[in-house]
Amino acid sequence: MIDLNIQLKRGSFKLDVSLALSHEGVTSLFGPSGSGKTTILRVVAGHEPSASGLVRVAGEVWMDTSKGQFLQPHQRRIGWVSQEVDLFDHLTALGNLKFALDRLKDDTSISMTEVVDWFQIGDLLGRYPRALSGGQRQRVAMARALLRNPRILLLDEPISALDAAARFEILPILDQVAREQELPILYVSHSAREVARLADYVVCVEAGKVVREGTTRDLLSQIEFSSHHGSEQGAVIEAEVVLHDGEDHLSQVRTDAGCLWIPRTDLDLGVRVRLQILARDVSLATAEISQDSILNVLDGVVSELREVEPGVFVVRVLCGEGEKALPILARLTKRSRVRLGIDVNKKVFVRMKSISLLD
Ligand code: ADP
Ligand code: MG
Repeated sequence: MIDLNIQLKRGSFKLDVSLALSHEGVTSLFGPSGSGKTTILRVVAGHEPSASGLVRVAGEVWMDTSKGQFLQPHQRRIGWVSQEVDLFDHLTALGNLKFALDRLKDDTSISMTEVVDWFQIGDLLGRYPRALSGGQRQRVAMARALLRNPRILLLDEPISALDAAARFEILPILDQVAREQELPILYVSHSAREVARLADYVVCVEAGKVVREGTTRDLLSQIEFSSHHGSEQGAVIEAEVVLHDGEDHLSQVRTDAGCLWIPRTDLDLGVRVRLQILARDVSLATAEISQDSILNVLDGVVSELREVEPGVFVVRVLCGEGEKALPILARLTKRSRVRLGIDVNKKVFVRMKSISLLD
């Protein structure tokens, strides 16, 4: 549980946020440059002594200005990794990791071998930072942050300077760390795709204020929010791998609204994955179509629709029952919408031309 109630004034910039994050796992602070994301992390870490309000992490009060309480940064158990690498140049990767361990005053719950294994840095331990690629350096930096046995991991656009391959190598590792260590992660990003892959909960910050927050699944399927993502607009859903069909090169995944086929993956059965279903790859029908090339069809009810550009509608459909209903977005022309009589509460068949694994 993380409770933040922060006020800070810096010239014409005013930060005023109040957040109660009960969500375990990864919370993404998402928003444009200059909106105050880094400042929020700095307040949590204790680097903004002029801030007022409350910072409470996992039951420990780190700041409560109403009671005159303020823990110095070194007294707060945080792991911090930002875009700029802050490894010690004069120490090898191993030296950097040991430095974190040496500073620990009590037993760490994480072992060096475990962390080295997770971040796949065993072969790099003897190298100096200048002999590491950007992605390798960030993996060492994250391993070092974890060895401090933090109560919270603060990641400030940690991979935005890396190339796409290195970026998407690190995200699954962070995902695993968040789940296995039950360690809350505050992850600053302005990349919708990173957020879709990693975040469980999203907090949108604009001009020092929280303008929107919600689970990744709910937020990414809100038409207004997702409209900022252009051609990447689409739903992100969680699923479990349940079957491989080697002959047809397909794998089957189970979602809250039924099973879907995706291109064959090598992942083990039982593994949880995230899928992206782009709105432009989804069409709607009002009757079942039996002879057709589409493999994935779910039925649902329209919950929202909006004309996002002249002649083009985005429709949000809830597939499945109650709380767990899966929101899927579809793009269709105004003409199709009128022809099919698509409106809120209309029952439809959601036809997905393509589903991709987010990884
Ligand atoms: P973000 O991380 O979302 O890009 P920041 O938290 O870094 O935003 O910045 C919030 C505001 O504070 C911005 O208006 C920025 O210009 C200002 N700011 C950031 N760092 C400094 C600084 N060292 N001195 C003065 N103003 C700053
Ligand atoms: Mg920043």
